[in-house]
Amino acid sequence: MSYLFQNYKRTNVEFVRAEGNELIDTNGNKYLDFSSGIGVTNLGFHPYVKEQLQIQVASIWHTPNLYLNTLQEDVAQLLVRQYDYCVFFCNSGAEANEAAIKLARRYTGKQSIICFDQSFHGRTYGAMSATGQGKIKAGFGDVVPHFSYAKFNDINSVKSLITKDTAAIMLELIQGESGIHVAKSTFIKQLSQLCNEHDILLIVDEVQTGIGRTGKCFAFEHYDIEPDIITSAKGLANGVPVGAMLGKRSLSYVFDYGSHGSTFGGNKLAMTAAKATLETINDAQFLNDVSKKSEELFTKLNKALFDNPRIIDIRGKGLMIGIETDLDLSQLVNKARQHGLIILTAGQNVIRLLPPLTISSQEINQAVCVLKDIFNES
Ligand SMILES: *Cc1c(COP(=O)(O)O)cnc(C)c1O
Repeated sequence: MSYLFQNYKRTNVEFVRAEGNELIDTNGNKYLDFSSGIGVTNLGFHPYVKEQLQIQVASIWHTPNLYLNTLQEDVAQLLVRQYDYCVFFCNSGAEANEAAIKLARRYTGKQSIICFDQSFHGRTYGAMSATGQGKIKAGFGDVVPHFSYAKFNDINSVKSLITKDTAAIMLELIQGESGIHVAKSTFIKQLSQLCNEHDILLIVDEVQTGIGRTGKCFAFEHYDIEPDIITSAKGLANGVPVGAMLGKRSLSYVFDYGSHGSTFGGNKLAMTAAKATLETINDAQFLNDVSKKSEELFTKLNKALFDNPRIIDIRGKGLMIGIETDLDLSQLVNKARQHGLIILTAGQNVIRLLPPLTISSQEINQAVCVLKDIFNES
C-alpha cells in the first residue's frame, strides 16, 4: 500500500545518488541521464551548484520577502542581462504563468488570452486554463474563462480569435510536453507584429526552453522578438524548486505593493542555486558548446536512425529533441533504461531527449548507440 496519490505512473527504480550526468539506483546500477529530470538539472549534478548550496545552507536558508534579498537582485540581473525587464520570483512553472496571466490582465484591463492547441502551461487553474489540451482539464469543473486556442504556426487562426478584449497571446516557442513542435520564424515574426498592431502583450512560456536548453539563455533570442512577458522555471535553479516571471519594466508598476506575492518565492537556497546555474550558463563559450553538442547529437542520431522505417521525424532545437515514431513509447523507455539510458516521452508518439547541457561527446555516443539498438529491436 502507498500513502501517496497515484497521480504518477512510477517506474520501479529509485535513484539515490548522482555523479555528473549519471544517476545511480538503490542497487548501484548507473544510468546516463538524457532527461535532466524533465529539463531541470540542465547542468547535471554540477559541483559548483552543489558547493554554493552547501555554503548557503551553512549560513541561512530562508528569509521572508519583507526584507532585502541581495541574491534575488543578483539572479534577476543575471536573467535580465541586456534587456529591460523586472523579475518576480515564485516556485514553479505554473506559478510563473499565473503571475504572467495576472500581470497581463491587470496591465491591459482586458481579460482574454489567446493560447494554442496542444500547449502546456501547468496544472493550477490559470495555467491549466491556458493549456490547450482537454485531457489536462477533464473532471475539474469550470476553468478560468476568456482563454481561447489557436492553431500553432497558423497566423490566420490567431487573427480570427482577436477581439477588443484580447489582453495577451501566450505560447511556448517549442511545445515541449505535446511533442517538440518548433515555432516557425515567420509565424513568430507575424505574431509579434500582430501584437504591436493591436496593443496585445506577447507572453512566452520558457519554462522548458529557457536556461540554455536551446543554445541561447532563452529561446526567444533565436527569433527577432522581445516578448513583453517571459516565464521560467524547470532548469533555472538546476533542481531546487523555483519559478520566475520577467515582465517589461514598463509593465512593472501594476504589480505594486500587495498586488501579488509568494511566501517561498526567491528563497535563499533557490536563489543560490539559480545564481550558480546562471553564472555557468551566461557564458558565450558555454552556450556555443551547447549548439555544437546539439549539431553533433542531431548528426549522429540522423546517421544512426535514418534507415529505420519506424522513425517518422527527428526534430527540435539545441538539446531539446523529439524523435517521432510509431513504436510503443513506454516499451522504448523501458528498454532504454535496461540499457542504462534515461529518456522521456512527449505527446502520443514522440521520444523526448533533454540531456544535460554539460553532456560529453562520449556520452552522446553512448546514448546514440543505445537509441539505435532499442529502435532496431522494437
Ligand atoms: C513543465 C512546464 C510547465 C509547468 O511547470 P511546473 O513547474 O510543473 O508547474 C509550464 N510550462 C511549460 C512549457 C512546461 O514545460
